[in-house]
Amino acid sequence: MNFFGVTIVLLLQYLNITALIISTNLRVRSIMENKKKIFSIVLVLAMVIGTVALSGCTQEDENKIIIGTSADFPPFEFKAEDQTIIGFDIDLIKKILTDQGYTVEVQDIGFDSLIPSLQTDKIDVIAAAMTITEQRLQEVDFSDPYYDANQAVLVKVGVPINITSIEDLKNYTVGAQTGTTGWAWVNDTLVATGKLSSDNFKSYDLYTDAVADLIIGPERVGAIVIDSPVAQAFAEKGNVKIVLDIITNENYGFAVKKGNTELLAQINEGLTAVKATTYWDDLIEEYFAS
Ligand code: GLN
Repeated sequence: MNFFGVTIVLLLQYLNITALIISTNLRVRSIMENKKKIFSIVLVLAMVIGTVALSGCTQEDENKIIIGTSADFPPFEFKAEDQTIIGFDIDLIKKILTDQGYTVEVQDIGFDSLIPSLQTDKIDVIAAAMTITEQRLQEVDFSDPYYDANQAVLVKVGVPINITSIEDLKNYTVGAQTGTTGWAWVNDTLVATGKLSSDNFKSYDLYTDAVADLIIGPERVGAIVIDSPVAQAFAEKGNVKIVLDIITNENYGFAVKKGNTELLAQINEGLTAVKATTYWDDLIEEYFAS
């Protein structure tokens, strides 16, 4: 209901009260009856006002998009010093959505909980360097791809670890984040084939914890399998290095709830539009120039 509608309703209610008071005065009704009438009018008015107030709230919520991410994945999503979540994905999806008139909120959720959160409407879109896979396509809808990646093997700088082929991984404890394509690669290629014992496969909730363990030393974890651009970002800090590339040809997409075609179309249109502007080049420069 708009302002005009509200005014009309209130005016009608006012006329109604006036008419009632006049008519009651004329008929000289009992005081008790008057009180009852006035009480019910006040009740109706309260309901009208309440409904208007509520509809105002829904309108505001409809315009708000909750972005779910796992802020442990630089340069795509990570926490700045002041703890705000920034990164290539976050800036990009925020730009796409705010350009289309939405307000946005970013929520930091474990990677493995992102798809369930989307399915239960706790979030509206996933921006988490999420690879478009056949399996995930059964559960969510993906935007057009916006970034390519492979997997890479990270080890600590200065420790006697010799990994030059996939086969060499069997000699070490290998870590990955639960629910990721890196985790699935280790599981399917090494553990399921018997090349790596499951005791030597360490699952982490967060990749930042995996890298922290790697830096502590091989007694915690010897090697981590992680998306190549993120491996690069961690390696730039100097404590860890990439020793092997694993070609998996992955594409990242933003995910929406299955069937949310309206939001998906808006994201795809926005992505195409942003790619045609210098905002895109600036974003690449900001997060990938080294
Ligand atoms: N691209 C990987 C995947 O989709 C890792 C994503 C992540 O850890 N944020 O599984």
